[in-house]
Amino acid sequence: MRPQTLTPDSPLIQVLARGVCPICALMRAFQNSIIGSPVKQPARGLCNFHAWCLAAASPAWEAVPIFRAILQNAEASSHSGTVAPDSCDWCDALRQYESARFSEFVREMQRDGFADWVRQFGTICLHHADRLIATAPETLAALVKEVVARNKDELRKQLAEFDGKLHRGEGDGGGILGHIAEFLVSQRGVMR
Ligand SMILES: [Zn+2]
Ligand SMILES: [Zn+2]
Repeated sequence: MRPQTLTPDSPLIQVLARGVCPICALMRAFQNSIIGSPVKQPARGLCNFHAWCLAAASPAWEAVPIFRAILQNAEASSHSGTVAPDSCDWCDALRQYESARFSEFVREMQRDGFADWVRQFGTICLHHADRLIATAPETLAALVKEVVARNKDELRKQLAEFDGKLHRGEGDGGGILGHIAEFLVSQRGVMR
């Protein structure tokens, strides 16, 4: 169900898939694009997670100048006490990207076709649902509450089915555990 050709620029309508929070899916695509080519997103500081992504998963020739810049910044900040080297430019970029896509989601939900699909089949993770409920217009907040209640209900049922299978010695269906993790804390490796 997961869109295969998802890019950070994909319009939200292309990201709608069952079991997937569209905002989280786009954030993951954005983060993957940074890690895949970090020269596009230079950094003077990175958090633990993103520093290790850069070390382990980025092209080494792109990682070298970024680590050099962070080391230089660490040297400068130890003298001046300015920006800490573990303040993370990529987390900042992700938050900005998230805000833009969040606003787009709110706008798209004004369109009947989009909203109907989300109401019937959509998934919104707890984090984004809470934010929508707190900030969106009342009718949209009510719809989001409805979607999240359905999501929880579906996940509870699927978990019970999976538990039953485990007790019968059948191991298939472990994808449900990933879906629950995503619903609770977003897609794997997406920082908040
Ligand atoms: Zn989400
Ligand atoms: Zn970070």
